[in-house]
Amino acid sequence: MAEPTIFSKIISKEIPADILYQDELVTAFRDIAPRAPTHVLIVPNHQIPTINDVTQSDELALGRLFTVAAKLAQQFGIAEDGYRLIVNCNSHGGQEVYHIHMHLVGGQPLGPMIS
Ligand code: 5GP
Repeated sequence: MAEPTIFSKIISKEIPADILYQDELVTAFRDIAPRAPTHVLIVPNHQIPTINDVTQSDELALGRLFTVAAKLAQQFGIAEDGYRLIVNCNSHGGQEVYHIHMHLVGGQPLGPMIS
């Protein structure tokens, strides 16, 4: 069993975050260092370290990341102009927190890539 990450502590409300959505499978909260006007992290409640660790039993929770992203994009008014969903994996992918998370980033033109 992996050590609880900062995100596990946010999900269990041991540490504070601006939680925007939570259900039995996923939690969404604002990124502490936003890189765009809208920058939300959507994470499975169950800790999966990286995309490399995903199994079939995670499919429901990982699918939920997309439906929650679409719902939040509507709520933030960025759905029509568009936005970007990002999941980083390991060091070359720029992953800092080893608890899979989807970045929902938008509210401005993002260009071909963001770092
Ligand atoms: P990664 O690089 O792993 O894909 O992204 C990790 C993200 O988590 C970063 O955008 C970073 O700003 C965010 N982050 C790190 N620690 C915290 C925290 O304690 N609270 C919140 N809300 N976001 C965090």
